[in-house]
Order: sequence, then C-alpha cells, then structure tokens
Amino acid sequence: MGDGVRKIVVVGGGTAGWMAASALAKVMGTKRYSITLVESEEIGTVGVGEATIPPFQSFNDMLGIDENTFLKAVNGTFKLGIRFENWSKPGSDYFHPFGVFGVDMSGINFTHYWLRYLKAGGPADFGLFNPQTLAARRNAFGRSQEINPNFPGVTYAFHFDAALYARFLRQFSEKIGVRRVEGRVVSVAQNGESGDITSVALGDGQTIDGDFFIDCSGFRGLLIAETLKAGFSDWSHWLPCNRAAAVPCEKTMPLLPYTRSTAREAGWQWRIPLQHRTGNGYVFCDSYLSEDQASRLLLERLDGKALAEPRILKFVTGHRREMWKNNVVALGLSAGFLEPLESTSIYLVQVAILKLLKYFPRGDTGGIMRDRFNTEMLGNFDNVKDFLIAHYKLTERDDTPFWTYCRTMDVPDSLKARLEAFERYNMSLVTDEELFREASWFAVLAGQGMMPKTYHPLADVMPEDEFKWRMDRVRQGTEGLIQGMPGHDVYITKACASQPVPA
Ligand SMILES: Cc1cc2nc3c(=O)[nH]c(=O)nc-3n(C[C@H](O)[C@H](O)[C@H](O)COP(=O)(O)OP(=O)(O)OC[C@H]3O[C@@H](n4cnc5c(N)ncnc54)[C@H](O)[C@@H]3O)c2cc1C
Repeated sequence: MGDGVRKIVVVGGGTAGWMAASALAKVMGTKRYSITLVESEEIGTVGVGEATIPPFQSFNDMLGIDENTFLKAVNGTFKLGIRFENWSKPGSDYFHPFGVFGVDMSGINFTHYWLRYLKAGGPADFGLFNPQTLAARRNAFGRSQEINPNFPGVTYAFHFDAALYARFLRQFSEKIGVRRVEGRVVSVAQNGESGDITSVALGDGQTIDGDFFIDCSGFRGLLIAETLKAGFSDWSHWLPCNRAAAVPCEKTMPLLPYTRSTAREAGWQWRIPLQHRTGNGYVFCDSYLSEDQASRLLLERLDGKALAEPRILKFVTGHRREMWKNNVVALGLSAGFLEPLESTSIYLVQVAILKLLKYFPRGDTGGIMRDRFNTEMLGNFDNVKDFLIAHYKLTERDDTPFWTYCRTMDVPDSLKARLEAFERYNMSLVTDEELFREASWFAVLAGQGMMPKTYHPLADVMPEDEFKWRMDRVRQGTEGLIQGMPGHDVYITKACASQPVPA
C-alpha cells in the first residue's frame, strides 16, 4: 500500500460502514494503518437490505468467515433467485434464478438451443434447465457438493437480518483492531487549499482526524454531498419509486429459498424469509400512492402477524456524480441507490470496497486512481440501472396510472438497443464486466413477456438426433443436481440454525 495515507476514518456504521471497516482491516491490517469507525446510535441505520446475490459469498471468503457461522449469527436463509409475481400482467409470474440455463454448446449460449427446442415442440419452460429454479419450486436447498461430490455447486446467496449483520461485522472488526467511536458528527473540517477533509468533530467535543475518509453515512452523504457537493444524477424518471414502507411479520412455513417480489398498484412488495421472521416492504412512488395508503395496504397483505408498525423510508434513485472526491470515497447509500428490486446495493458496496483496495491512493489522494475508481463505479451503476428499468418497462399492465407511466416511459438508449437486440436475435449485449449475464437478461425479459424472434443460426447445425439426445441429457442432468436435496428448513436446521451473537 502506498505512502501518505495512514489514518482511515469510516463515517457510519450501517451495512456499508461495517463491511468497509472489516474488509480494510482484514486486508490492510491495523498496525500500519489505523481504522476508526464513527457511528451514531441515536441516528441509527436504514435497517433494511436483507437480500443478497451470489457474489456476496466471496465477501465472506475474503474475510475468512465460515458461511454457517455467519448464517447462524444473522438468522440467515438461502436464496436461489427471485420470484416475480404480477409484473407483466396481474396473475403472471416468473422466476429469475441465479446461475445459468443448461450448458453452452460449441460456444453458443444455451438459450439459443432452447429456442430451437421450443420451435421443435419442446416444453415452454426454460426453468427445467436451471437447478436453482427446480430446487426453488420444491422449497429444497442443499449445497450440491454435499449431496453428490461430482456435481458442481448450486448457485446461491443469502437473506439475513441487517441489524444482526452489522453487529456481526462490528464484532469481527473490533477483534482485528478497528476502533469504534460512538457519537454524532456535527461538523467537518477541510484543508483551506485542497478542500480535503482533515477531521470530523463529534457532538461531545471529540475530534477525529484522518488522511482518508470513507463516507458511509447513508442517504444524506454527510461528507461526499453535504461537505464536498459531489452532485447527484437523478434517475427517478426511469426508476420512479421513491418510498418504501417496511415492516417485519411472523415467519411462515415452509421457509422459501427465494425472495418474492409482487407488483402492486404503485410499485411492488418484497417478502424476505428469515429464520425468525419475514421481512416485508412496499416500494412505491408517492406521486401515485400516499405513505398512509402504502402502509395500510402492506399490513393487509402480510403473510403473518405484523411485528411492528410500518416504517417509511424515503429515497431518490440515482447516484453521486463523483463517488470519490478529494480524500473521500462514498460507499453504500451515500454513493447512490438504484432501488432494491434485484438486491444490488450490498453488491455495489462490495464492488466499491474491492476497487478502493485496488486503487488505494499512493502518496496523494487524487489523480489516476480516483478517476479510474469513478469511471468503473459509474459503469457498474449504469449497467445495473438498465436491467432494473427493463422490469418496469416491459409490462403489459395498464390497470393503474403508475404502470401506464412505466409502460410508456422513454428508456435509456443503451436499454433500447439491448431490447431490440434481444427481441430480434436473442442477444442482450452483455459486456464482460457486467453483473447481470445472458441468463439473467433472458429470464427477466422472457419472463416479462418478450420472446426472441430468432436464435443463433449455428444452434441449427447440430443434427436433429444428436440435438434431442443432448437436450434430454442436459435436462436430466439438471434434474439430477437436485435429486436428494432436503427441504430448505430441514437443511437450515441441520447446518446453520440460528445462534445469535450476544449483544
Ligand atoms: C427500502 C430498501 C430496501 C433495501 N433492500 C436491499 C436488499 O434487499 N439488498 C441489498 O443489497 N440492499 C438493499 N437495500 C440497500 C441497503 O439497505 C444498503 O445498501 C445498506 O444497508 C447500506 O446502507 P448504509 O450503510 O449505506 O446506510 P445506513 O444503514 O443508513 O447507515 C448510515 C450510518 O451512518 C451513520 N450516520 C449518519 N449520519 C451520521 C452522523 N452525523 N454522525 C455519525 N454517524 C452518522 C448512521 O448512524 C448509520 O450508522 C435496501 C435499501 C432500502 C432503502
């Protein structure tokens, strides 16, 4: 690591703050570098953000955290994908699974072969070629290697209790030398010439100085926005939801191994199954529904008894124009928020931490490293944005003003190009760096009702007999992956039933 930066200050102790503190302390150590995290219990955290995607596994690996230990501490469950209900029209549903469909053959993506199969009269159910989908349909879960060591793993992520996760990471970080300071930052000092932040002052009179600051203060962006005025790109014309009513309810059985996303009159409702409760929220746009209405409708639609009063969270979709400015990097909600539809926020925190480590300032805080970080992070936000907008745009719903707006709204040119390429050629124009790959675009676009008109001509080269034989084998192989898989709840009871960390 380069010279110059020694004292790192993390402002904020939500998921982003504690993820940053633990990762930096683990990788950089706390002898050469000092890492201090300031948080205010009085302000609290956003407290939602309980569904993840598969790359999260590698964050645990990086910290050296055993998966079952983590799941026990956070009341976690496994997630195989998201079930979308009522999105393309009321009564419709589809599954966006993790992982891929089938196996690519001769360098051609499997979905092209599936389109050939469909044309030849095969079943119109591409979920038959994805083990995550098959397991989700049966509420089953198992790490496949434990069931049959010859099988590749089932692709999964987790649902967890956000408050317990922050507590878990706090214990982890403090054990490896992160200093936690309780208090409310009331003022920020800057170098008169460079504008770099030099220290933050707390309400009790303490001053914490640093060479480099990580802003994890949530939506307000205490350092990146309020102090450094990094500017904001507002995407609410494409992603119009700007409120969420959130409430936990009693858990229901069986414990589903997936998130449910149900489109509602002015947005959508999430259901996240945890070991001890279900997390629920109604994400909506307040131009079409009031906060009181959303809270009431959410309470009416819970699967179990509410365990609290609904809480309203306000947000604007978009991102800071610069996520690294001067000697401040913004992570988490202070960097931006694209809405929770595909559980990408915690992933973007993870990506930003890895990039911060890669481009850590050497001797100074600006220049090449900062520009590279900003360019790459903006690219990440951009790609995720297109994928999310597609869910809203590709609907047939005309039953409420909200859905009429979404269906008829103009979308970014990049998304227009993807939709055209998909519909004409079954191509989603995915680049190597993108999070959502061909399988995800296929699952969501086809799930929303857009079926490609043609497929790759090379998928027709294989002789009919061989083609049929291969497709049957792939289908049987997929089925074989989940043979013997126990129920999700049975697996959890055996592997990782909750043992919360003491307060
Ligand atoms: C409705 C909703 C649903 C979501 N669902 C998902 C999901 O399913 N999956 C997913 O990946 N992400 C989800 N997210 C996003 C996820 O919640 C966040 O990315 C994640 O929790 C990180 O939040 P944070 O740490 O940036 O902010 P916060 O949790 O808001 O933490 C901010 C921290 O800053 C501190 N702070 C603020 N001001 C001061 C001050 N003046 N002095 C000292 N401390 C201060 C606070 O005390 C707190 O510790 C969701 C977000 C919302 C709004």
